[in-house]
Amino acid sequence: MKNIELQSILNRCVEKTASFQDFLTLIGLTNKDDLSALYQAAYQVKVNEVGNFVRLRGIIEFSNICNKDCLYCGIRKSNASFERFKMSKDEVLQSAEWAYEMNYGSVLLQAGERVDDEFIDFVEDCVKEIKLLSDNKLGITLSLGEQSRDTYARWFAAGAHRYLLRIETSNEELYKSLHPNDHSFDNRKKCLGWLRDAGYQVGTGVMIGFPRQSDEDLINDIMFFKEQDVDMIGMGPYIEHPDTPMSNSFLEYDAKKQHTLALKMIACTRLAMPNINIAASTALQALDQTGREKGLLAGANVIMPNLTDTKYRDKYKLYDGKPCLDENASQCRLCLEGRVAKIGEKIIYNEWGDSPHFKQRQKHKRD
Ligand code: SAM
Ligand code: SF4
Repeated sequence: MKNIELQSILNRCVEKTASFQDFLTLIGLTNKDDLSALYQAAYQVKVNEVGNFVRLRGIIEFSNICNKDCLYCGIRKSNASFERFKMSKDEVLQSAEWAYEMNYGSVLLQAGERVDDEFIDFVEDCVKEIKLLSDNKLGITLSLGEQSRDTYARWFAAGAHRYLLRIETSNEELYKSLHPNDHSFDNRKKCLGWLRDAGYQVGTGVMIGFPRQSDEDLINDIMFFKEQDVDMIGMGPYIEHPDTPMSNSFLEYDAKKQHTLALKMIACTRLAMPNINIAASTALQALDQTGREKGLLAGANVIMPNLTDTKYRDKYKLYDGKPCLDENASQCRLCLEGRVAKIGEKIIYNEWGDSPHFKQRQKHKRD
């Protein structure tokens, strides 16, 4: 497209006057120079609003037992082709303690979805004990799916302060095509409200590039993020898992195109919501060895190094080609530091790394 046209769209984004159509044009870019201009504009907004710093969330995938059956996910209930595991409390605490000693500032506990009492108590205990072992210094994000209002409140009271619940897609019809009939879009949306009410910093996100999803759907997703006024976004490319009902559903699969679409989505989200936290997801790295760095250069500012013990990692395969299955947490740490330094960014240690958006929201509440 003509340079001058692209520049005026990007200027409108920075001035916060961009239209739906403007974002649609951006998500449709294919030319290499146009894409570089988009990423650079988003990167500049990121640097101005949240700095050229990377925030870490050490991720502990503590169980692959799930009662849900999302049609895209490798650990869905009906997939009987692998062994289920749940870490003991000591194993979870050991990983968290390692993160604390390495000055990570923050951990993310993620697992398949369960709503039984044993699970709820387990998470509550883990959260309380992580707070104790770190002298209240480690921030705790949870990503444990749809729960009751009461459960969210209990985990918040125990010390968790951020919660990531992806809406997966803001298009209700598409949501139905990704899930069995007993999964509810309305309930997922309701949960986002409950999380906000409970006091969490709320994160959501979508899968990018699954079959039948259009560019319009993706821009509507960004509008949804804005409407929900979220503090953080965790989103990544959809990648097939062979043992799911959605495997082989692409007429033609192009990993590079999928990766670029995810980068464009990060860049557009940064332009639309300048001061939130945006994660460069692990799935980005599954499609491209330097995928996470490219995510940072397109506007993301959070990375989630994997702290899960290597003996469990290959049992938490949501999609095919998950990276770093055989690297332990120490190896991941060294590798990550090098990768971040290479692109001229700096990891911030010992901080929870809340988004300026959340801080602003708190200030408005107080005023
Ligand atoms: N069970 C919780 C939930 O669903 O919110 C948390 C864990 S779940 C594994 C975390 C995220 O993994 C989901 O929100 C989904 O977007 C992502 N995911 C699952 N299968 C995927 C796939 N095949 N490709 C990309 N992302 C996937
Ligand atoms: Fe379970 Fe989450 Fe996978 Fe759905 S996406 S099957 S809730 S782990």
